[in-house]
Amino acid sequence: MSKGADRLTQLMSDDARHIWHPFTQMQEYRQEGPVIIERAEGIHLIDIHGRRYMDGVSSLWVNVHGHGKREIDEAIKAQVDRVSHTTLLGLSNVPAIKLARQLVEITPAGLEKVFYSDNGSTAVEIALKMAFQYHRHRGGTGKTRFISLTHAYHGDTIGSVSVGGISLFHKTFEPLLFDCTFAPAPYCYRCPLEAEYPGCGMACADALEEIVRGAQETAAALIVEPLVQGAAGMLVAPEGYLARVREICTRYNLLMIADEVATGFGRTGTLFACEQEGVRPDLLCLAKGLTGGTLPLAATLATEIIYDAFLGAYEAFKTFFHGHTYTGNPLACAAALANLSLFDPLEVLSGLSGRIRHFSRALAPLRDDPKVGDVRQKGFMVGIELVRNKATKEPYPPAERIGHRVILGARERGLLIRPLGDVIVLMPPLCTERDDLSRMVAITAKAIREVTA
Ligand SMILES: *Cc1c(COP(=O)(O)O)cnc(C)c1O
Repeated sequence: MSKGADRLTQLMSDDARHIWHPFTQMQEYRQEGPVIIERAEGIHLIDIHGRRYMDGVSSLWVNVHGHGKREIDEAIKAQVDRVSHTTLLGLSNVPAIKLARQLVEITPAGLEKVFYSDNGSTAVEIALKMAFQYHRHRGGTGKTRFISLTHAYHGDTIGSVSVGGISLFHKTFEPLLFDCTFAPAPYCYRCPLEAEYPGCGMACADALEEIVRGAQETAAALIVEPLVQGAAGMLVAPEGYLARVREICTRYNLLMIADEVATGFGRTGTLFACEQEGVRPDLLCLAKGLTGGTLPLAATLATEIIYDAFLGAYEAFKTFFHGHTYTGNPLACAAALANLSLFDPLEVLSGLSGRIRHFSRALAPLRDDPKVGDVRQKGFMVGIELVRNKATKEPYPPAERIGHRVILGARERGLLIRPLGDVIVLMPPLCTERDDLSRMVAITAKAIREVTA
């Protein structure tokens, strides 16, 4: 065997032997053989054999302007020459300050303070702890609970799992979780209230209001994924739902936590999903797209009122005793600044609306596929729900691994995607051009037909 072939064999066997992959059944993974990425260019990922794939899920929903984006890479390199890491605990650094100011400027009005961490789960964890402690400082010691939605996904730490509503991921950990009140998700295709939109007049929002009314004395905050419940399978809320959530939180004195970890940075067609319904949350969680998909960074933004409640003499112990070692990492903040600078000059957002419409047109014929129950889209977030029986919406049995087999079929044709159960997700980088969008949809459609035939 040549030296090159040796190296590849070694990599593949070491991967199987030493890496425990996240959200992956390792028994299945080891049987299928790995795709090992070595480099990337634009929307393409290239593996160790030199095979090219389109990155159909933006490397798990993070990539914005494509891989190897010069401006971001150069900003990281320039920052390496200054300082790669220094703590934010009682100390500051230049990129973290510049980025905080920009985040305050571009996010919905009222959010004035930026608390950094390094992933979406911690951004949520921080928002929950801030909301809880805020009410303590304000004397509302009875306000200790959280309200969330069924099918919600807010991350994998114990706190963020506690407010999560996906039983497949979260049920195992139930004995470890704090109690949370769940309201029915706005999931029109499988309405938890068995109502029909729009005739229902958004009954799920009314149900939410009932629940919040009953819990107003004990609830600290409500947490919601604005417009799209991503990990649930791209459940798109009906228009006006998010604005109702804001109204309800205000009316019953709950803090509103908007988890824009997935929807932020242009995904839904606007810079933030909250903008589409003029919603100003009290706490906002950002991560995934923040650095354009280059380095781990997250931020939790808070209003002045929340921040002020934590002020006082040290011995009053109102400090927010929370922080991560790599909080406010200068390299990641420099990458985020470069990512944000690309939204303007390239007119990423104005160029996006035409491509979103193109994407919709490309997806439309899929609705006629006998095994496609629902096609949901908000901007560059797409979920294609496969069903065994279209008339009854009967799902496939889990053992059939339909979603998984479809993505393997797509992989053979040069498209890397990842399903959520039997929902096929397409979430390409925002820079993806029309031809490539069409190609991604065509490959997906072909893989679906082949596997379900
Ligand atoms: C991905 C995601 C998270 C968790 O982010 P991680 O960086 O994976 O910890 C939280 N909330 C939403 C809405 C997400 O999509």
